[in-house]
Amino acid sequence: MNLASRRIRMVMGLRRAGVNDPRVLGVMEQIERERFIPPAWQMDAYEDAPLPIGHGQTISQPAVVGKMLQALEAGPRMRVLEIGVGSGYQTAALAGLVRAVFGIERIKALLSGAKLRLEEQKIDNVFLRWADGGKGWPEGAPFDRIIAAAAADDMPGALADQLKPGGIMVLPLGVAGHQSLWRIRRDDTGFQTEDLGAVAFVPFLPGAIEANLVAETPRYRPAQGAA
Ligand code: SAH
Repeated sequence: MNLASRRIRMVMGLRRAGVNDPRVLGVMEQIERERFIPPAWQMDAYEDAPLPIGHGQTISQPAVVGKMLQALEAGPRMRVLEIGVGSGYQTAALAGLVRAVFGIERIKALLSGAKLRLEEQKIDNVFLRWADGGKGWPEGAPFDRIIAAAAADDMPGALADQLKPGGIMVLPLGVAGHQSLWRIRRDDTGFQTEDLGAVAFVPFLPGAIEANLVAETPRYRPAQGAA
């Protein structure tokens, strides 16, 4: 099966996983996930799995990206802060949904790769920053929406401060093995939280670094003979 057919099959899988927002399905049908992963993993680009992207990090699982984007309820005029750009895959999807994406990544080498990929695809409504996302992006604040792809133990206060009243933040919280995805709505009285279920994300780490040279241990291998 070629990659384009696999992508269509992936989108059918997203529907089965409960993603039914037509705008989210539409952007995920457009984006070529194979552009965001290393050559060795090309044939697995449309498996519903996280895959290694180097530096000890992973590109998020498509169903999880779909669920997070759906939970975000993002509209075309919104400005969104994204923490944990990684490969840039979710950034590209967000760019198709909103007016402007402010993406932060702490590993410089990953951010450089993401920047190149987004430029190649002529995605120009994304601003990228190499920094610790725990501080947010004060000059860009306040944001209509905030999304994070790495799990902090507790909600980073700076992110809560940078969310507009009426805004929504979607992020995983908790330690390995005990993480949940949360949707946090800011209203006039404070923050309303909603647990969207168990997830497994890489940890939200402090500080910005050039690179993280770790031995890669693939966490996922497709079954023998998987189509
Ligand atoms: N959505 C990305 C997910 C990458 S994994 C993708 O699909 O490719 C999560 C990313 O969050 C990693 O690249 C990791 O380096 C980054 N990260 C972790 N803590 C961070 C922090 N405090 N600030 C910015 N990025 C962070």
